[in-house]
Amino acid sequence: MTTQRFDVVVAGAGPAGSVAALVLARGGARVALVDKAAFPRDKACGDLVGPRGVGLLDELGVSVPDAGQGADLLVVGPSGHRSRLPAFRGRTYPGHGVVIPRMILDDALRTAALEAGAEPIRGRVSGVDQVPGGPVRALITSDGRRLAADAFVGADGALSPVARLAGLLDPDTALWGFAIRAYIPAEVPLPLLVLLDQAPWRIYPGYGWLFPGAAGQANVGIGVGLGTRRRQARLRGDLDRFAALLRTAGDLAPEARPGPVTGGWLRMGGTGTPPAAGNVLLAGDAAGLINPLQGEGIGPGMVSARLAAECLLAGPGHAAAAYTDAVTATFGRYLPGAAALQATLLRRPRTASAGVRLLTAPPVRRVLAGTWSLYWNGLVDGATPRPAAWTAAAVQRVASRLGRRWPANPPDLSHLEPGPLDPGHPGPGPPGPGQPDLVTSPARDDARPS
Ligand SMILES: Cc1cc2nc3c(=O)[nH]c(=O)nc-3n(C[C@H](O)[C@H](O)[C@H](O)COP(=O)(O)OP(=O)(O)OC[C@H]3O[C@@H](n4cnc5c(N)ncnc54)[C@H](O)[C@@H]3O)c2cc1C
Repeated sequence: MTTQRFDVVVAGAGPAGSVAALVLARGGARVALVDKAAFPRDKACGDLVGPRGVGLLDELGVSVPDAGQGADLLVVGPSGHRSRLPAFRGRTYPGHGVVIPRMILDDALRTAALEAGAEPIRGRVSGVDQVPGGPVRALITSDGRRLAADAFVGADGALSPVARLAGLLDPDTALWGFAIRAYIPAEVPLPLLVLLDQAPWRIYPGYGWLFPGAAGQANVGIGVGLGTRRRQARLRGDLDRFAALLRTAGDLAPEARPGPVTGGWLRMGGTGTPPAAGNVLLAGDAAGLINPLQGEGIGPGMVSARLAAECLLAGPGHAAAAYTDAVTATFGRYLPGAAALQATLLRRPRTASAGVRLLTAPPVRRVLAGTWSLYWNGLVDGATPRPAAWTAAAVQRVASRLGRRWPANPPDLSHLEPGPLDPGHPGPGPPGPGQPDLVTSPARDDARPS
């Protein structure tokens, strides 16, 4: 077995891993950036980078060719009414996101890390060399290489082999989701997010989206929350039904059909692992940092990765404790409450359906849109003072109280039937027994921008 030695080995060259490697390399560390994939590689994603992610890219001086600005977001409720959630500039983030295919974003970030001096290693991490009950000495790749270091960053996605191999993953406490996406020919003026009923007045346990994309290829997808049991959800039929609804509503042309479908797991709400233990720090999906309410993980992934790198540069001996504190300070006011709120809403599909109908109802949507936008997108901390920020902060405080009970009270999502992801599903048709169906009214109203 050949051994290579580094200061830090980063496993995973997604947005989190590449940002960690970039910051570490710029800070003078000898860092390896390991990934099993050959880059450029695709990744199942809606391709929408939120405002905090955009701000961080700017601060790091990494320019990425954006395929379109995701500013305001249009949310459609089960009644068919649309609410336009405004994007506010905050004190610590810009007033817009960007849409960029992951094939391009991830390659650009990895290239920036390599240009800063990180050493690329293609390999699948399949083992750890760990002192029993003590620090990890090396990551082992499936082709027999031993990557030794003082510290390790696990940025290897929601299932995080590094977290699992180092004994940090407790899947039973994780809050899981599953989502699929496809590209589809469409010009989409604003990111569109659709919250539907699976039966009248029973909310579907997730949402569909249609986001703008490069070269007339929009990103269409659907994702569901699964609670604490990770299992595959049969979503392909739902995606076809969702695309059919978008065609009926005029958001897609009559002939538009989704291209090849790809999917992935989401681990949300800061669940499933501690952020760090010993000399292993977890960043991004490996730390379960996806927003449980709307599925955003790229921004949180990059933010956490920079924190991990900065803590390691400040001193590897104290990095795990410092990073745990930093993650709590950065995400702790929002994520536990959002996870608990998601669990509560999924457990009460009728209440959730009524709530979304209320939020999108013409008389109240304008009043509540700003609050909804800031809280839902995790943008309360660092928001510019305004009435919507104050009410969103109040919502965040109430949700945090719910969060103190999480994860002692996991959601029962038995109404979602597990089943294999079936990319070969023939297309729209009636749902199988127990399988989610989508119900919405094609009603249009004046909230749609011209
Ligand atoms: C369908 C879908 C849509 C989504 N839409 C959005 C969206 O629009 N906006 C948003 O912000 N978030 C979205 N997310 C979430 C987002 O994709 C993730 O939060 C984000 O990719 C996290 O980045 P990461 O770097 O932590 O992990 P990843 O991007 O998953 O990168 C992990 C890397 O680790 C590598 N790896 C894994 N195992 C090993 C191993 N054993 N050895 C070596 N390398 C390994 C992988 O090859 C991969 O390159 C979506 C997720 C899904 C599934």
